[in-house]
Amino acid sequence: MAKEELNPFAIAQKQLDTAAEIMQLEPAVHELLRWPVRELHVTLPVKMDDGSTEIFHGFRVQYNDSRGPTKGGLRFHPHETIDTVRALAAWMTWKTAVMDIPLGGGKGGIICNPKVMSPGELERLSRAYIRQVGRILGEDMDIPAPDVYTTPQIMAWMMDEYAFMRGHNVPGVITGKPLPLGGSAGRGDATARGGMYCIREAAKLLGINTQGATMAIQGFGNAGQYAATLAEELLGIKIVAMSDSQGGIYNPKGLDGAAVIAHKQNTGSVINFPGADNVTNAELLELDVDILTPAALENQITGENASRIKAKIVAELANGPTTVEADKILYENGSYVLPDFLCNAGGVTVSYFEQVQNAYGYYWKESQVHELLDEKMTAAFHSVAQAAEKYKVDNRMAAYIVAVGRVAEACKLRGWV
Ligand code: NAD
Repeated sequence: MAKEELNPFAIAQKQLDTAAEIMQLEPAVHELLRWPVRELHVTLPVKMDDGSTEIFHGFRVQYNDSRGPTKGGLRFHPHETIDTVRALAAWMTWKTAVMDIPLGGGKGGIICNPKVMSPGELERLSRAYIRQVGRILGEDMDIPAPDVYTTPQIMAWMMDEYAFMRGHNVPGVITGKPLPLGGSAGRGDATARGGMYCIREAAKLLGINTQGATMAIQGFGNAGQYAATLAEELLGIKIVAMSDSQGGIYNPKGLDGAAVIAHKQNTGSVINFPGADNVTNAELLELDVDILTPAALENQITGENASRIKAKIVAELANGPTTVEADKILYENGSYVLPDFLCNAGGVTVSYFEQVQNAYGYYWKESQVHELLDEKMTAAFHSVAQAAEKYKVDNRMAAYIVAVGRVAEACKLRGWV
C-alpha cells in the first residue's frame, strides 16, 4: 500500500481537487484555488534573556482575499512548517466562506518553542514578527488572531507594535485581544461553543440524545478545555476522557471538567488525575464513546487507526485532525464527521464580531455574541448537511462544495478568472 499522505497542504489540495471534480469547477478557477495568492517568509533576530541573540523563522500566508481581507491565526510551534501554514490558510478560506462572513483566509506561524521561552523573550519575538509582517497586515488587508500556543497577551503585544508602526491605535488589526484592549465578550470559548452548537444540530439530525451521551476530548488547550466544560453545561454530555501532549485520562463514569482544569493548572498535565486511569493519546481516540472531539493537532485519525474509531460523531475542533484516507473509512463506517472548518468556525466568527465592534467602537453583551454565533453556526451546519444530502457526499466534501462555490463566485465576479 502506498504511504499515506500526511503533508497538510497536500491533503488540503487533494480535498479541493475532489470537490472541484464533483462541482466540475473550471480548470483556471480550480488551479487558482489550489495555491495561496501571497506569502511572506521572515527571519527574526531576538535578544534572549541570557544576552545571546537567537534567529527565528516565521511565515504569513494570505491564501485568498476575493471575499474580503484575509484572516487567520498565528501559531508558535517547534514543528511549524510553511506547508502546515499554507494548509491552515486554505482551510481558513473555506471556513470564512462556509460561515458566509465577508473575509478571506490567511494563517501565520513562527518556528519556536514557547514552553521554554520567558515572557520577555515571547514579547520580543512577537514584536519582531509584527515589525516584519506588519507591512502586509491591516484591518482591511489581513487580520491575525490566536491559535496553537499563542494567547490574548501575545495579541496585545502585537497590536501595540502595529500601533507604533502606523502611529495610531488600530484595534481591528488583530482579534482575540484581551477585553480591555477591544476584545469581544465571548471570544474565549467561541471555538468550543460553536462546536457544541454543531454537535447539537448533528445530534438532532441523527436522533441522538445528548443528555448523558459520552465524549472523549483529545487536546486540552483553549479549544479542548472549554469543550470539556461547555459540553456538559450546554448539552448535558458526560466527558469520560481527556488528554494533552503528555497523555490522557479515562473514567467511564465521567470526569469533572473544571476539576481536571484545576489539576492541569497545578501539575502541568491532565495525567494522574485522581480517580481516572491514564491512557495514551492513541487509546483515547479509540474509546467506545458517542462523540470524539479531536482538539489538538493535525493527522491524529489516519488510515491506520480510523477503522477502530467507535464514535458516532467526530467533532473536529482541531484543524486537520483526519487524513484523506481516514475520512473514507469513517464515512463507510457511518461515523458522522463535523469537519474542522465548520465545527471550529466559532472562533473566527466571534473574531469577525470583534472586528465589527472595533470598527463601530461599540461593544456587545456576551449574550448577544452567543445568540449571533448560534445563528451563524446553525445556518452553516444546515447548508453543509443539505449539500451532503444533495451531492451524496460526506460532510467534509459538502462543506468544501458550499465554501469553494462561494469563493469561486467571488473570484469570477472580480474578473480574476
Ligand atoms: P492550545 O495551544 O491552547 O492547546 C493545544 C493543546 O493540545 C494543548 O493542551 C497540548 O498539550 C495539546 N497537544 C499538543 N500535542 C498533542 C498531542 N500530540 N496529543 C494530544 N494533545 C496534544 O491550542 P488551541 O487553540 O486549543 O488549538 C487546538 C486546535 O484547535 C488546533 O488544531 C487549532 O488550530 C484549532 N483551533 C483553535 C481555535 C481557537 O480559537 N483556539 C480556533 C480554530 C481551531
